[in-house]
Amino acid sequence: MGDLQVFETVESIQDFINDLKEEGHSIAFVPTMGALHHGHLSLVEEGFELAEYVVVSIFVNPMQFDNKEDLEKYPRTLEEDLEKLSVFENIAVFSPGIKDIYPDNYEEIHIDLGQLDRVLEAKFRPGHFNGVVNVVNRLFDIIQPDYAVFGEKDFQQLAVIQRMVKLLKKDVIIVPCPIMREETGLASSSRNERLSDNDKDEALIIYKTLNHLKELARTKPLAIAIEDAKSFFNKGSLELEYLEVVDPETFEILDDWIPGANACIAAYCNGVRLIDNMQMMSKAVFC
Ligand code: AMP
Repeated sequence: MGDLQVFETVESIQDFINDLKEEGHSIAFVPTMGALHHGHLSLVEEGFELAEYVVVSIFVNPMQFDNKEDLEKYPRTLEEDLEKLSVFENIAVFSPGIKDIYPDNYEEIHIDLGQLDRVLEAKFRPGHFNGVVNVVNRLFDIIQPDYAVFGEKDFQQLAVIQRMVKLLKKDVIIVPCPIMREETGLASSSRNERLSDNDKDEALIIYKTLNHLKELARTKPLAIAIEDAKSFFNKGSLELEYLEVVDPETFEILDDWIPGANACIAAYCNGVRLIDNMQMMSKAVFC
């Protein structure tokens, strides 16, 4: 068991980080909202591939929630989270309060996200990415990491962060990690804690639909494949919010298949909003 260090204030984590930097250590940062599962832990493991120390933040960021009930019901399991992280050595947790992240004199930033702010999550969760940009930018300023690790589970968020780093000229390397899934194929998510076993069985339709669409992508034009995939999805009990195929670079909604085309889906399972995505066509196929 490593000895887990937990910091709750900006000053205390910065003192710790300054000491690490003075000693010449590199730092990988994993921002999370807690309720940690093996997807988060895979990011921590990647962090240790990159740097000597890993800092994990646990902060449920109110600014990125467009829905009050979603924020209130978001699982908070700090004790269990700390236990899961205590198996690692050279790890620190930053678990700030709201005023540490957004002090009274906090100046909100706004960046131009272009197409990323018009489609998929941005379309259905107005203001969501502005909240993400603000919290991640603030956390980067506090932690000053060499690397920051993000999951491809939040495919569009990853692109938003990459754009933010470029536009704000942040001195940090963004490292993506693949989606971790439960044994059934359901994408691991903190929100899965709100699902019953039966809900989880029903929610599997998300993964099955993405696989079905991927299979169709081999033979069918995109428009026909999407319609087919939507009717497949609608045989289940979830409520579809969107199913779209996008260019992974530009996030344009595609009408025709291209190498690297990525399908993104959002749906409600018993009032719980779930997202997932999958690459439909390998980039190498046409090379
Ligand atoms: P969250 O706590 O949901 O804000 O997620 C924190 C980080 O963990 C983000 O970079 C997510 O993309 C990543 N993450 C969440 N779920 C998964 C998963 N199933 N596989 C890989 N990364 C994930």
